[in-house]
Amino acid sequence: MWPFLVKHQSLTTEAKQDALKKQIVKLFLDEGEKTIPEVCHFARLSIPTGTKLLEDLMRLGFLTEIGKRDSLGGRRPAIFGLNPDKGYVIGVEVLLHSLRVNIVNLRQEVVYEYENQAFDLSKKEEAFEFLCGIIPELIASQKIPRDKILGVGMGITGRISPWQGISYSYLNFDVPLVKLLTDEWQLPVYIDNDTHLMTLGEMRFGLARGLQNVVYVNISRGLGVGIISNGMIHNGHSGYAGEFGHILAEENGRLCVCGKRGCLGGVVSGFALETAYQELYPTPWQPAPHYKQILRMALDGEEAVQHLLSRMGAQLGQSLAILIDIFNPEMIILGGGFSFACEWMKESIIRGIHLHSLPQLAAECEIRVSDLGDKAEMLGAFALVFDEVLRG
Ligand SMILES: [Zn+2]
Repeated sequence: MWPFLVKHQSLTTEAKQDALKKQIVKLFLDEGEKTIPEVCHFARLSIPTGTKLLEDLMRLGFLTEIGKRDSLGGRRPAIFGLNPDKGYVIGVEVLLHSLRVNIVNLRQEVVYEYENQAFDLSKKEEAFEFLCGIIPELIASQKIPRDKILGVGMGITGRISPWQGISYSYLNFDVPLVKLLTDEWQLPVYIDNDTHLMTLGEMRFGLARGLQNVVYVNISRGLGVGIISNGMIHNGHSGYAGEFGHILAEENGRLCVCGKRGCLGGVVSGFALETAYQELYPTPWQPAPHYKQILRMALDGEEAVQHLLSRMGAQLGQSLAILIDIFNPEMIILGGGFSFACEWMKESIIRGIHLHSLPQLAAECEIRVSDLGDKAEMLGAFALVFDEVLRG
């Protein structure tokens, strides 16, 4: 593993040097390529100290020279960047009916993607067995040496305790899931709720970068939100915050997977869209098309589907108005599986917000569609693993 990641017990000169190296690696991860004067400026280091640390990191193979910066006069300064092949993070998304795995290099580039739509999380033992087998198989297939894998970041649907490493809603065994998978894979494993990971991805690499108060809306097969409050992700007391899909939307409405009736996720989500489509075009012997296919129909101009989406957008806006009044966010990011169709829905969402939120709060809240799309969660997994790797 990386030599400067050793956890030091006392503050020796070596420990201080290693802490500075971690700080510089984090700077490159967050900000991308830099020259030596830029690194020294950001990390508040003298040029000789910064130069020596960068040379050490070059010698260890973490940094490479990737070009020269334009200069108005004098010598053009060299630009450095992380060596993408020096380490990898495995991002995993575990949903009810799909499993997605991405291998991401140090420059946050996805080098390998795997998706399984036949995965069934409700079959607990089978799903666990499959998960145990597939990660080592993918690492072997990509011929990535084990010591280059820095860890696995997993986003799982349902209630997750990231601190205890327990997934309560699914894959809940007598032993915490993280312990089981760490033993199985012999790799560091970190978990969180899928929407929380997407929010982390947006916070570090997307539209929420540098912002303090943001609501990220994950509209996928289900519905959830991630809340960034005063620059930090609000996990809540147990780690379960953001279950927006289970707030009441309709008295005595449709039965939800949570066991209650009339949850918002029953009227605004991919599942809700599939159900509404099935009601519109009943095909008793065939399941409805996948919600992404239905979204494409709307983008292709199918009016009946567009009408469904407008109704959904207005309902979502009405419910987001409550969050705006409570949290006073500067931005709402619309993301998840619906991302590619959200520009189309935005108008009805904004209409719903303005009808129900306090005007001043709504006026100061920008509504944006995520430009990370379905990459947000994998980048969140990357940040989750790296925050742990560089901690201490
Ligand atoms: Zn519910």
